[in-house]
Amino acid sequence: MINKDLREPFKRFKDINPYELFKGLKTPCYVIDEWGLKYNGKLLKDIQDKTGAKILLAQKCFSNYDLYDTLKPYLAGTEASGLYEARLGHEEMKDKEVHVFCGAYRADEFDELLKYADHIVFNSINQLKKFGPKAKLNGKSIGIRINPEISTQKGPEIYDPCSKGSRLGIPVSTLDRDLTGDLLNMIDGIHFHTLCQQNSDDLKITLDEIDKKFTKYLKNIKWINFGGGHHITREDYDIDLLIECINFAKNKWNVDVYLEPGEGVVLNAGFLLTHILDTFNNNNQIFVITDTSAACHMPDVVEMPYLPPLYLADLEGNKVDVRLGGPTCLSGDIIGNYKFITEPKENDLLIFGDMALYTTCKNNTFNGMPLPDIYILHEDNTFEKLTNFGYKDFKYRLGK
Ligand SMILES: *Cc1c(COP(=O)(O)O)cnc(C)c1O
Repeated sequence: MINKDLREPFKRFKDINPYELFKGLKTPCYVIDEWGLKYNGKLLKDIQDKTGAKILLAQKCFSNYDLYDTLKPYLAGTEASGLYEARLGHEEMKDKEVHVFCGAYRADEFDELLKYADHIVFNSINQLKKFGPKAKLNGKSIGIRINPEISTQKGPEIYDPCSKGSRLGIPVSTLDRDLTGDLLNMIDGIHFHTLCQQNSDDLKITLDEIDKKFTKYLKNIKWINFGGGHHITREDYDIDLLIECINFAKNKWNVDVYLEPGEGVVLNAGFLLTHILDTFNNNNQIFVITDTSAACHMPDVVEMPYLPPLYLADLEGNKVDVRLGGPTCLSGDIIGNYKFITEPKENDLLIFGDMALYTTCKNNTFNGMPLPDIYILHEDNTFEKLTNFGYKDFKYRLGK
C-alpha cells in the first residue's frame, strides 16, 4: 500500500530521477517547482472560469515574488496580512487586485496602505469606525470579517478562528449590538476565514450557518470572501461541491465571491533538499542529523505539528526505522520518524516534498542556522537561483 497523500508531492518525478536532477545543489535549499505551480494554477483558473469567482494568493503562505508572474495568469490577485504584504502584492503582481485583512490597522500606516489595497477588511466595529470613512473616501471596497462560530476543524485550536475565545472575526451578537445605521451602510462585503486544510464539505457547513445567522447582513452587500484554508488542489478535494457552494452564494445573496487560499495555490509545488550530516544508533534507535532544521526551515512541522513527506520513505516494505532531526540545540527539532528501504548514510541526499508553503516566508535563523538558498525548478528541468543567504543575513537582522 502506498500512502497517496505522501506520494502526491512527488508526482513531478514520474519520468525523472530526482537524485540525478538535484545532484550538485548545495543544501539545505528550497526548490520551488514551476510545473507544480502551473498545475495548481490551471485547476484554480478553471474554477474561476466556470463560476466567475475570483481566487487570490494568500501571501503569508507563499511570497516568493519571482514566481508571481508564473501565477498571475491564473489568479485575480493577492491577499495580504498587512502593509508589507499589501505593498509586495501591489508591486509584484501588477494590475491585479490587492486585498488586505489585519487584526488591527495602525494609524501611522493607513495612508500608505490606501496606496496599495483595493479591498480592506476590518476585524472590529471600532476599526471600521476609525478607518472606514477614509477608506471609502479613497474609493476602497470595505468589508468586515465575521466569526460564524461554527468549528469544522479537527486540528489544533491555534489554527481554528472559531475556537472559544477567538479574537478573529466579529460574532453576530456584536453585529446586532453595534453595527447600525451609517456603519451598516458603509459595508461593501463580508469576509470569513475559518477553514484550515479542509475540503468543501466543511465550507458548505459554514455557508449554511452563515446563511442562517447573518441573514440580515447578507442583504445589500456586493461581495463575500470565503477566506483561505480550502485545500482545492489536493487530490481528494471535492471541486464540484466547491462550485456548488460558490453558485449558492452568488445566487442567494447576489454577490461576487472571492477565495484566498495560500496552501491551495502552492500545494505540492516545492521541495526542501538536505544532506545527512551524521547518523548514530542510541538505545537501538537509528538517528539521522540533517543539515536542515525543522524548527528553522519548516517551522510548521514543529508548530502544527505534522510529518513532512519524504521521497521514497512511504513505500510498502520499507523496514529501517529512522528518526530524523536537525542540528540545533532544541530537543524538539525533530522532523519525524520514517521507514527507509536501507539504512541511510552520511552525505545521502534527502528530498522533502510539499515545501513551498509556510517555509521560505516563515523560516528563521535560530541557533545561527543559515537560511536555505532558494531555487526555481523550471518546467524544462533547469534551475534558477533566487537567493544566496549567508552570515550577513544572520548578523544584520540583529544590530548595526
Ligand atoms: C491564513 C489565511 C489565509 C490562507 O490560508 P491557507 O490555509 O494558507 O489557505 C487566507 N486568508 C486569511 C485571512 C488568513 O488568515
